[in-house]
Amino acid sequence: MANINEPSFRESVDLMFNRAVALMDLPSGLEEKIRVCNATYTVRFGVRLRGEIKTFTGYRSVHSEHMEPVKGGIRYALGVNQDEVEALAALMTFKCALVETPFGGSKGGLCIDPREYEEHELELITRRFAYELAKRDLINPSQNVPAPDMGTGEREMSWIADQYARMNTTDINAKACVTGKPPHAGGIAGRVEATGRGVQYALREFFRHPEDIAKAGLSGTLDGKRIIVQGLGNVGYHAAKFLSEQDGSKVTGIIERDGALTDPNGIDVEAVHKWIGQHGGVKGYADATYHEDGSKVLEEECDILIPAALEGVINLTNADQIKAPLIIEAANGPITSGADKVLREKGTVVIPDLYANAGGVTVSYFEWVKNLSHIRFGRMQRRQEEARHQLVVDELERLDRYLGDAWSMTPQFKDQYLRGADELELVRSGLDDTMRTAYQAMREIWHSRDEVEDLRMAGYIVAITRVSASYRAKGL
Ligand code: NAD
Repeated sequence: MANINEPSFRESVDLMFNRAVALMDLPSGLEEKIRVCNATYTVRFGVRLRGEIKTFTGYRSVHSEHMEPVKGGIRYALGVNQDEVEALAALMTFKCALVETPFGGSKGGLCIDPREYEEHELELITRRFAYELAKRDLINPSQNVPAPDMGTGEREMSWIADQYARMNTTDINAKACVTGKPPHAGGIAGRVEATGRGVQYALREFFRHPEDIAKAGLSGTLDGKRIIVQGLGNVGYHAAKFLSEQDGSKVTGIIERDGALTDPNGIDVEAVHKWIGQHGGVKGYADATYHEDGSKVLEEECDILIPAALEGVINLTNADQIKAPLIIEAANGPITSGADKVLREKGTVVIPDLYANAGGVTVSYFEWVKNLSHIRFGRMQRRQEEARHQLVVDELERLDRYLGDAWSMTPQFKDQYLRGADELELVRSGLDDTMRTAYQAMREIWHSRDEVEDLRMAGYIVAITRVSASYRAKGL
């Protein structure tokens, strides 16, 4: 976090939790039980690399086991520490409850800059980390299921899955020990894009409610809205790509580690993403204005700000300078609790992290279910669905012949209607439904209770109510 006088990330999450429970009527013992992190395991292990032994430090934190398995990503970054992992694990508990994925909250991290290592070295390190976690059941299909986060992706998840399978050769459900795997290693279509896709669906749902749009001082639809995104990694890239390609929004700013790009007429997200892949940063990209001090671009005029990189970027040093009337927290914890207060007082509407980036865990849930059921979604019903649709089309064609020029089917109708849904369509449909339902649960509380000032509190209240119901059902 940029300002040393601010609470740590975990304290910041606790403060948000405390603000929510103050509006609820929970027994204080239960409140404390839900707030605290159950356990954090720290591991230090050595790997022989480049002729010497290198020691790494990793964590896996379990915030709440009111439902098992617990779920949460594994992050590779130099700044990983116990406080951060515990904050992220707590957010996972509330996120899973809000979007009704039947998991408790967990998170893991390894202190490493993955860019400093070759692929085969990263494989050795990842396998060793996975071994340390798996032997303590901190990776296990029925107890603890990791996923990708910052600095990790499909590649790391497939190494973890393979490592677990090697250690548990007779576990028929071994593939369900981790999600975010590539499709050829037990993954599911649509997982890579899921978090960014979820951000798109969240914004679409927000823009279905004129009352909510008005609260942000905006009007109309996503079409033409100016967007600034911070972090063009997995989450930021997909969100910016989908919103600009499918909803008519204009990405007017992209902030990365090495600076930022702006263009009031809109930036080609795909081209910048490709540029970053080739050059490691945004510097040198010719078709937009480059700014060396990237974080200043957070303060530029826009309609929607999407922080999608890391925590604490909007804090007490810059909150009062933020001009965006609507912020969607694609990253976890990008706004500190102090900054959140400043923004609330200014009337900025914040779509909170526990909802906004829940697309990842939602599709991870689908992947986990797919792994446990050992069958691809849609495999049984797709052709049967098509056959039934064919019956309708045959009848319409008969009518078409009978009515002559008076009526005919539009040419695209037949193709679109006939096609049964494949796995990707089913995943997107399930994700869309999840994002709509969760938003509606939050907004109902936001609009029905005067003391609930913002969507974040509404989200926490929905989530904490569900977690406490689980604990009570267990007899606590
Ligand atoms: P990623 O590693 O794919 O991308 C992060 C991007 O942010 C990179 O492009 C990186 O260069 C950039 N970045 C890093 N530091 C920056 C800085 N100081 N300023 C600007 N840009 C910076 O990570 P990701 O998976 O996209 O995760 C991003 C955020 O989303 C994290 O907070 C993560 O916890 C959250 N999240 C990710 C997922 C997921 O499915 N991957 C799910 C939920 C939440």
